[in-house]
Amino acid sequence: MKIAIPEFCLVAVVASSEAEGLAFARRHFAAGEVVSRGSEAWPATAAELLAKRELVALDLSEAAVQKQIDVIRLAKRFYAQPVAIVICAPAGSPDQRTVRGLESTGFRPAHLVSVRDADAVEIERVRLPPDLRHEHGPFDIIGDVHGCADELEALLGRLGYRVRLEGSGDDRRAEVEPPPGRRAIFVGDFADRGPRSPDVLRIAMAMAAQGCALAVPGNHDVKLVKWLRGANVRLTHGLDLTVAQLAHEGTAFREAVRDFLLALPGHLWLEGGRLAVAHAGILEGMLGRASEVVREFCLYGDTEGETDETGLVVRYHWAAAYRGETAIVYGHTPVPTAEWVNGTLCIDTGCCFGGKLTALRWPEREVVSVAAARMYAQPGRPFGHPLARPAGHRPARQRRRPRYG
Ligand code: MN
Repeated sequence: MKIAIPEFCLVAVVASSEAEGLAFARRHFAAGEVVSRGSEAWPATAAELLAKRELVALDLSEAAVQKQIDVIRLAKRFYAQPVAIVICAPAGSPDQRTVRGLESTGFRPAHLVSVRDADAVEIERVRLPPDLRHEHGPFDIIGDVHGCADELEALLGRLGYRVRLEGSGDDRRAEVEPPPGRRAIFVGDFADRGPRSPDVLRIAMAMAAQGCALAVPGNHDVKLVKWLRGANVRLTHGLDLTVAQLAHEGTAFREAVRDFLLALPGHLWLEGGRLAVAHAGILEGMLGRASEVVREFCLYGDTEGETDETGLVVRYHWAAAYRGETAIVYGHTPVPTAEWVNGTLCIDTGCCFGGKLTALRWPEREVVSVAAARMYAQPGRPFGHPLARPAGHRPARQRRRPRYG
């Protein structure tokens, strides 16, 4: 029997006794990963491991629900997935109920193992999708394209990629020949506002399929996926144009777009950990982790959902407080020029608003831009980084659904 768990997570082992749970943990996990609740300092020990992005296996036999909730909170503080392994007694025990209870408390998933299989079970550790530390450049990281296919073709040309778009209707195909050894990375927001969103997606999808591009989703892409799945979303912030453009495309293409966008990891952690790419940015403690909170931050940035006088969501300048060693390249917030701030670089230079489309060549750290042919949309507010969070700032408590801007 095999149990697949994320290679970074908090595993709660639940058995009929603490001794049995600990024995299982010690058999299947490394000594340094096993945390016993027998010691007073166990929360601090577990926190220390999770902070270092190391797996924690914790015996949780006979723990009350409140204790389970504390453990979930601990996992979430470090963006670790809380999973459970329930060792069930031979017969007549309410183990399915234990499993459902743990899942409703927040352990997902909770695996059930018969005590007879407890020794033979094989724990398989699965890499988290953003953890691509084994992937190395050189890369050409490309900012928010927003349907500006003319500028994307020009920029790829400047970077040495040969792009050919041929055919029409269902036969329209993109073929891209990269410079030897190089790969592109898209920071997301492929569609909306610009005149040729389907072609932008077609180029990016062809490159990804050929293995010469990686990508993360942007907030606009997530909303587009919702529309593609039939959800009732507001056709604002340029999505109306994308929907009109997609009316000329076949079902197969739309399904391919949906599947492509859905499969993208929330962020990319690359080059042995020296480089990360996320649409709206990422905090140091979130790197290589994959919780819902991390995904939301990568899509929308540092925001609490309040809106300003323009009706757009207030964004805070997370990069102003960034002190990490990992270089972070992102988009989302249009700036007049790409400039490094504390090891972070925003490469959204507002192409769709008449700015420019920008790429960062990595590891050269050379910025390459092409000017927009024209202004395709009116910006909702002036370009530039938002203000840093004021000291002692207490944001509004309730979190509204972010608006897409
Ligand atoms: Mn954008």
